[in-house]
Amino acid sequence: MLPVGVVILLTGCATLKQAELLEPTWFDMERIAPHVYAAKDVPEDKRRVLLAQYEEGKRRVEEFYGDVLTDPTIYGCATRECIESFGGHGDGFAAGKVRPALLLWTKTFDAGVIAHEWAHLELFARVSRKGARTVPMWFHEGLATVVGALPRHSEAVYREAVSSGFPIPPLSELRTEAQWGEAFKKYPNPKGLNVVYATAGHEVRVWLHRVGKEGLFTLFEQLKSGEPFSTAFGAIGEKSTETSKLRSVPMLLTDEIT
Ligand SMILES: [Zn+2]
Repeated sequence: MLPVGVVILLTGCATLKQAELLEPTWFDMERIAPHVYAAKDVPEDKRRVLLAQYEEGKRRVEEFYGDVLTDPTIYGCATRECIESFGGHGDGFAAGKVRPALLLWTKTFDAGVIAHEWAHLELFARVSRKGARTVPMWFHEGLATVVGALPRHSEAVYREAVSSGFPIPPLSELRTEAQWGEAFKKYPNPKGLNVVYATAGHEVRVWLHRVGKEGLFTLFEQLKSGEPFSTAFGAIGEKSTETSKLRSVPMLLTDEIT
């Protein structure tokens, strides 16, 4: 499980804490690359991992979006408590109150996590915070899951869960942040498969396969102009279904489909 905070849900207190990100060297952080800081207690080998994973994570985001709008600063902590001290929570956190930032700790110095969190920031940058208000959690997380390409959230995991007969959460139960959190308790399985993220990723993969990047960018534009997600998403999907039928595009779902 990778609990992820979305910036619009932050409290005022978290905003104050996030302000510390503006002067990280006052709070035991050292700059190790132009956009990367590491806490003083992060050992040298882990710093090398962070830098390498940052480069790969950035490559994934650029490959997916083409023209990237955000260039977040990465803060590598040694502990989860350090993430919290900067107003974040969980294992990986996308912050945006004071500057685009990704908070990670040694366990999540991972290109997939970096790309996943970065994808959240990119969505907000593209649709504006106001435009993102109607976007359900499954789409936020599903899109980030596609961009991050973490194996534990993959299409293979979704397929294994389905073929094993494990309960799959319906999208109607993955709309709000509260529902998202509940789903981890409501849909367990004996193999410990992450069906919540894998399902969200699956739904977005299927949709992207049908509408392509063009459809995704159209959705972004419509959200930005104030169209509610449900209307815009449905309309783009319907239009593309007709086109797909005409072209008889084969259904092929892999993690490479973006
Ligand atoms: Zn996420």
